[in-house]
Amino acid sequence: MADVRVENLVKRFDDVTAVNNISLDVKDKEFTVFLGPSGCGKTTTLRSIAGLERPDEGNIYIDNILVNDLPPADRDVAFVFQFYALYPHMTVFDNMAFPLKAVKTPKPEIESRINEVSRILRIEKLLPRTPEKLSGGEMQRVALGRAMVRRPKAFLMDEPLTNLDAKLRAEMRAELKRLQKDIGATTIYVTHDQIEAMSMGDKIIVMNFGVIQQIGTPAEVYDHPANLFVAGFVGSPSMNFLQCTYSNELGKSTLIVGNNDFRLDIPESIGKKIKDSATNAELILGVRAEDIFIRDEPSPETVQAEVYIVEPLGSENIIDLRIAENMIKAKTLPTVMPDIGQKVNIWFNKDRIHIFDKNTEKAIF
Ligand code: ATP
Repeated sequence: MADVRVENLVKRFDDVTAVNNISLDVKDKEFTVFLGPSGCGKTTTLRSIAGLERPDEGNIYIDNILVNDLPPADRDVAFVFQFYALYPHMTVFDNMAFPLKAVKTPKPEIESRINEVSRILRIEKLLPRTPEKLSGGEMQRVALGRAMVRRPKAFLMDEPLTNLDAKLRAEMRAELKRLQKDIGATTIYVTHDQIEAMSMGDKIIVMNFGVIQQIGTPAEVYDHPANLFVAGFVGSPSMNFLQCTYSNELGKSTLIVGNNDFRLDIPESIGKKIKDSATNAELILGVRAEDIFIRDEPSPETVQAEVYIVEPLGSENIIDLRIAENMIKAKTLPTVMPDIGQKVNIWFNKDRIHIFDKNTEKAIF
C-alpha cells in the first residue's frame, strides 16, 4: 500500500470549477473520507487521482511518484463504484480473475489470490455463481474482491454502499471498516452521507463548492467544526444556529440572542475570543441538540421555550422547541415526552457551545 498526495489540484469543466485548488495527504493504511453535498467536487477529485480526469493545475503523487502523466492502468489503484459493474455472463470467480488475466498473471497465482480474498470476504461459496444469483450485499463484496485481488497501492471508492438497503448498508459499513483495518489498505472513500464518514473514516475531508472546508478526525470535525458549513453538514440533527450579538455590559460577557429574545451569559474566556477575532457584532451561536437539556425547575441559567413537536425515535426523542421566533431541536431520553405547546425550561451546556462570525462564517470558538 502507499500514501497519496494531492497538491493544488484544479479541475474545470467549461465554466464550472469542479475542484478549486485543493491539497491533501492520505497516509499509508489510512481510511480517508471525502464528505460533502452533491456537486462539491468529491468524485472529480477521486477520478483525478485514478487518472480518469486530467487536472488543469496541480500535482498528484502516489507512493511519492508524480502520476500526472500516467494512464489509469499504470497508477496501480483500484476503483470501486456504487454500480458494481460485474460481467453478468461470468461467474464470480471469473469476474474476480478478469483484472488479473488482463495483466497475464499466472493461473496458479490467480487461484491463490482469489481463494485468499474470498476467504477474507466470506464469499467462497459464491465463486461458481453468476451475478444475477447474488444479493446486493454479495455483489458489493464481489466488486470489492475484484479490486482486492489486484493488490493495488490504494483503493478509491465512490459511494460504494449507495445501492444497498439501510440495514445492509449499516452492516457493510462495519465490514468494510474491519476489512480495511485487517488488510491495511490505503483507502479514499467518497460519500455525501455524514454517518458513513463519521463511522468509517480515520480522517474526514469536508468539501463544498470544490474547496476543502476542513480536514480532521471524525471527533475533530464534529466537536470543533471550522465553519458554519461543516457545523451544519456534520451531525444529525444538524447543529442549531441562533443569530446573536455579543455584549459586555457591566463587564460581563453575554450573548443577546435573536431580537433580544433571551440572553446567555458566557464564560469570559469565550468573550475574550469574540473580542479578539469577531469582524463585527453579528455572531451565530451553534448548539448541538444533545447539548440542550430540559430542566424541571426554572433557574437564572435556564430559558423558557415552548414545545412545538416531539419526534420519538425509539432510543431518543428529538424535541422541537420555539423561543420567540427561534426554532431549535433538543435530543432527550425517550422518557421525556412533553405536550405540544407546553412551556419547558431549557439549559444550554455552555462548555460545548460554538460561536461563529456571521460575516466570515468561520468558527471563533
Ligand atoms: P455527486 O455526489 O453528485 O457525484 P460530487 O461532489 O462527486 O457530487 P462532482 O461529480 O465531482 O461532485 O462534480 C463537481 C462539479 O463538476 C459539478 O458541478 C458537476 O456538475 C461538474 N462536473 C462533473 N463532471 C463533469 C463533466 N464531465 N462535465 C461537466 N461538468 C462536470
